[in-house]
Amino acid sequence: MHNNRIIIRKEKYDNSELRLNETLFSNANGYIGVRGTLEEGVPSGYSTMRGMYLGGVYEIIPMKQAESLCNLVEKKQTMLNVADTQTIELYVCGERFEMGQGELLSNERILDMNGGFTARKIRWRSPGGRTVGIYIKRMASLDRSQIFVQEYTVKAEDFDGEIAFDSWHIADVRNYSDPADPRLAAESPSYLTVLRSEVKGDTSLCVSKTGVSGVVIASAVSHVFPGSDSNGISAGYTVNEDKRCVCRIEAELTQGNEFKVIKYSAFSDSIRNEDPASDVITVLDEAKKNTEALYKKQRDILNDFWKRAGMEIIGDDDLDLAMTFNMYQLFCSAPKVQGSSIAAKGLTGEGYEGHYFWDTEMYALPFFVLTDKKLARNILSFRYATLDKARENAALLGHKKGALYPWRTITGEECSGYFPSGSAAYHINGAVSYAVVSYYLATGDSDYIVDEGEEILIETARLWLDTGNYNRDGKFVINEVTGPDEYTCMVDNNFYTNCAAAYGMKWAVRLIRMFERREKIAELKERLNITEDELAKMLRASENMYLPYDERLGISPQDDSFLEKPVWDIAATPKSDFPLLLHYHPLHLYRYQVCKQADTVLAHFLFPENADRETMEKSFRYYEKITTHDSSLSTCVFSMQASRLGLHDEAVKYFGDSAKLDLLNLHGNSTDGVHTANMGGAYMALVYGFGGIRIDEKGLSIDPFLPDKLAGYSFRFSYHGCLLCLSVDREEMKVELTEGDIIEFSHLGELHRLKGGNTWTAKL
Ligand code: BGC
Repeated sequence: MHNNRIIIRKEKYDNSELRLNETLFSNANGYIGVRGTLEEGVPSGYSTMRGMYLGGVYEIIPMKQAESLCNLVEKKQTMLNVADTQTIELYVCGERFEMGQGELLSNERILDMNGGFTARKIRWRSPGGRTVGIYIKRMASLDRSQIFVQEYTVKAEDFDGEIAFDSWHIADVRNYSDPADPRLAAESPSYLTVLRSEVKGDTSLCVSKTGVSGVVIASAVSHVFPGSDSNGISAGYTVNEDKRCVCRIEAELTQGNEFKVIKYSAFSDSIRNEDPASDVITVLDEAKKNTEALYKKQRDILNDFWKRAGMEIIGDDDLDLAMTFNMYQLFCSAPKVQGSSIAAKGLTGEGYEGHYFWDTEMYALPFFVLTDKKLARNILSFRYATLDKARENAALLGHKKGALYPWRTITGEECSGYFPSGSAAYHINGAVSYAVVSYYLATGDSDYIVDEGEEILIETARLWLDTGNYNRDGKFVINEVTGPDEYTCMVDNNFYTNCAAAYGMKWAVRLIRMFERREKIAELKERLNITEDELAKMLRASENMYLPYDERLGISPQDDSFLEKPVWDIAATPKSDFPLLLHYHPLHLYRYQVCKQADTVLAHFLFPENADRETMEKSFRYYEKITTHDSSLSTCVFSMQASRLGLHDEAVKYFGDSAKLDLLNLHGNSTDGVHTANMGGAYMALVYGFGGIRIDEKGLSIDPFLPDKLAGYSFRFSYHGCLLCLSVDREEMKVELTEGDIIEFSHLGELHRLKGGNTWTAKL
């Protein structure tokens, strides 16, 4: 598996790409997220989303409904931009360094996915004719998740003189907003009150508090000057009238010499710590002791990660790099602390206000299940921790029993203001229960099921029982819900939702029976009053689920009324009208056969037991024509299902669109953060799609194919505690068991047994 191509470099400097680069060169570690904003600020007139975020740190803000119908959600949480510690202004003999001034002799931005850092490498000539070499390296420590480090080196190439920095620590920051884009916050008032802004010795400390959620956030900043003779260096901290802390650093440089400043920022919050202000100082002091050790640890953690998750695509370097980038970003978004999950944009931007959607369980989790069981377990724990809130949410919507997970959330409470494509998306329950089952099937972790998973399965199954009813010759129907496709809302019998409900109820019963001798299951039954009668009802509803089928077209209709609507003419729609959601009233869209994203196609991929091959292929062709892929969660699904159906050209086409979506900004909004669901989806398209990895109750099967345009590929993945590597080239496929004693898998329906250290080969 290669390690050499995992560096992204961009040499071209382009003001119009600043905001995209803020996303692509961001630093995150599952707790801290820092946009890759230029330290000195962007040239005036250009757009920036300058932000530093902490996973799960939020404010509660009003979301006034114009007509307050019963139990509509009237407040929501929003992820906070917590403080700005990344701003560093450089002065070269009094001349301020800015990208728009002087002459840019060379420029390079680097993302090193082995070392876990980003860097800027610049040669700049000031308007006064002085040339400096600038190297800025940044890292959000994966080992110490509260620490962010910036290393700023300046070399005087052709002059002797003074170098000065103003290094800022600003707590009264605001969030980004754009009233014209529903995917961003509409306004950004000041959510934080600065309680303390002070300097003690060589450290500045800021403490602020949100007005409603009452969350306290502390940040501390300190600088060190390694390798410098302290003579001639002065550093002084001050607090301005507007409570902004600044450290003025001055040093004399002679021609050919350089000066390095390391700026440490530490963060803490009252959700995780009783006294964030003291905590942040302790954490900062500890981190400052040894930067080299921090870098080494960063590399070790990533080495270990790539050892478990490494992937190589041979014959298309761009795809290879894009997939590496996607996996790296997923890893950096995963929560390393309790009480948070993976947001739609990870920690790289404010798109969707830091909310967690079904994206996490349905799209991102499979990557972690196959590469890092511990992180997968961490991610799942969020839904267990918020199960009570899901129960309350169900009650709010009139259910007598069960739990309904919120469509979008940070704390577990519903944040969606528009219920037709928010609260009505009951399929979020399906995503959570599917995730519980797939984690169990891939890891065999039965402790998780008895400790947490089964309770989720029972409560989500109860919700389905309470939502549906028997109709249509004894079939179980589910009415008035919204499926994954948000261009069709509030429908009866969404095929996807019904499949997911049937699956969730089946497994709720299956697993409780499997582990009924475990003490914790007996306790659970008693605590939740789970009766045999209730389990029988779940099984009956699951087995008798109504799944729409259209005889005439031979396809699975998306819902009961979908095929009765006129077909939207995508070809005749001007390019500038996409995404449609920004140009057409929702009701208008709902009256057409037009899909924002994969819906039935995803159902066929995940629940293939519900349709025969011919129905799936006809459905694929049908939905392909009417899907705009306005959602980034779509092309990856079309790719996976195309692979499953043997439509290799389509599989490759859709995979490319999905894999490169953020690196090439294919949707035009990677400026607001990466699309984590799509990143996970691209991973699935390769591993489940090309690699033919399938994990179900029958076990593991591996049935890969190699697209014509590739020379080969390989990836590592874990299954039941073993580490495997699948390699595919023109001639053969190889399965290697690199860790673990023995593994069983099937290929083309035949069972094989592989011992640790051995490799199994077959002609392709
Ligand atoms: C998609 C949803 C998704 C959300 C967040 C929307 O555009 O339609 O399926 O959960 O984005 O990524």
